[in-house]
Amino acid sequence: MPKSSKYIFITGGVLSSLGKGIASSSIGLLLKQRGYSVTVQKFDPYINVDPGTMNPYQHGEVYVTDDGAETDLDLGHYERYLDVSMTRANTATAGQVYYDVIMRERRGEYLGKTVQVIPHITDEIKRRMRAYDGVFDVIIIEIGGTVGDIEGLPFLEAARQHALEVGRQNALFVHLTFVPYIKSAGEVKTKPTQHSVKTLMEFGIMPDLLLCRSEVKLDRDIRAKIALFCNVEERSVVEALDAETIYEVPMMFAKRELDDIICEKLHLKRSNLDLDTWSRFVHRIKAPKHPVTIAIVGKYVKHQDSYKSISEAFIHAGAINNAKVNIRWIDSEHVDVSNVAEQLDGIDGLLVAPGFGSRGIEGKISAIRHVREHGIPFFGICLGMQCAVIEFGRNVCGLPEANSSEFKKNKFSVIDLLPEQRHVTDKGGTMRLGAYPCTLKKKSKAAAAYKTEHISERHRHRYEFNNEFRELYEGSGMVLSGTSPDEKLVEIIELPNHPWFVGVQFHPEYKSRAVTGHPLFVAFVKAALHHAQETVDA
Ligand code: GLN
Repeated sequence: MPKSSKYIFITGGVLSSLGKGIASSSIGLLLKQRGYSVTVQKFDPYINVDPGTMNPYQHGEVYVTDDGAETDLDLGHYERYLDVSMTRANTATAGQVYYDVIMRERRGEYLGKTVQVIPHITDEIKRRMRAYDGVFDVIIIEIGGTVGDIEGLPFLEAARQHALEVGRQNALFVHLTFVPYIKSAGEVKTKPTQHSVKTLMEFGIMPDLLLCRSEVKLDRDIRAKIALFCNVEERSVVEALDAETIYEVPMMFAKRELDDIICEKLHLKRSNLDLDTWSRFVHRIKAPKHPVTIAIVGKYVKHQDSYKSISEAFIHAGAINNAKVNIRWIDSEHVDVSNVAEQLDGIDGLLVAPGFGSRGIEGKISAIRHVREHGIPFFGICLGMQCAVIEFGRNVCGLPEANSSEFKKNKFSVIDLLPEQRHVTDKGGTMRLGAYPCTLKKKSKAAAAYKTEHISERHRHRYEFNNEFRELYEGSGMVLSGTSPDEKLVEIIELPNHPWFVGVQFHPEYKSRAVTGHPLFVAFVKAALHHAQETVDA
């Protein structure tokens, strides 16, 4: 008999962006630190079948799992907090659910029945909610959107049914709401919370726990009022104050005994909570010793959620190096040969971000040339690595027309499509996606950072280093320090005669986790610290 899992559903009310992802991850961490195995699933009510094709401006970063799913950025939070790898089964959109049901209908699997939202769509949602049943002690299910959204209804209905089926002692509903502080009146208002709980109850869901986002402390009488009107026990109305860093949220929840209440309600044994390592990590984030400035040059810098995993990776690497990483966001379209020195003045490191399309490419290339020639640490990720290859081709290998065939097709496509990518017409899910193994060259900077020669990293791209130019590049001083085990694909490039110049075809940021960080980000920040120190000494 597999053990039975406990389910925690997390819904959100009043408005979006209250931090359901962080709340889910934080609850997950607290239960994990009590010794339970935990995973988090995200159900998104939007119709897109493939979040990979969504605009980063609107939707933030596309997060990629080991098994190559292109997902919502909340999965990144789950991995970073819980230190477990997510898979395709950790996420579902309404589009995927409907797609499956419609395909089944096309195959005649419903035997002529009328196919309906209830039960067919809800059954498919429930099937996905049970994907990890018996595998983890606790399964947290975050439902995207805000309660009351039309497209969210089937998900709430499925959650309600699922809770009934697994038994109420095995399921818990947590509702994240907002309690605004009205400055002119000098008081907080509970009405929006009352309304949103009422909406939830219309769907037959009575929340067991309310997490109330608020910028001010919620007095006992306010919590009592919310409890009474929302039909929730008073101790289960828990304030969720704004935190200095998102990594402090689990500690704030623990102070409010949230994990205690959850364990009790789910009939879980209250084993000891061990937050020591986590607290030390948070302390290092809040009180770092050494400042460093790192420029991130990219196309979507106005919307920093597009680079969520990168900025989180810097927080982890900063804590590990005891450094305060100040990020200078630079729009690649605002950089050119004439202003690059000014734009990059005073930086200790440059990261050139991933991206698609030709906009801002020349700015990225100018920035890379500047740091290569001035010995400033450089880290290029995916498109950032490809730009470094183009720059090196143009300015060191004597190929003034070097380019990527993504931007310009000529004889000097140092970055090019592999033959199998040339005929792809569908945009969704057709890139090199997910985890691939990579072998590192002994004594390289990459091997020094990873402290091993065999790694696995996640990819999301179409173009590759063009092998026809390998000899020329190696002869000109670039080291191809990471390749696929069969040596056919170049995964990492670096310059040995530079303090730290590393470009990677994959996305290391997806694997940076709280407390432990990512080897390359840790090494890059270390190199930047070194640069900062030398600048002070000079
Ligand atoms: N546009 C490039 C490619 O498809 C880089 C992609 C990326 O940076 N993720 O290869």
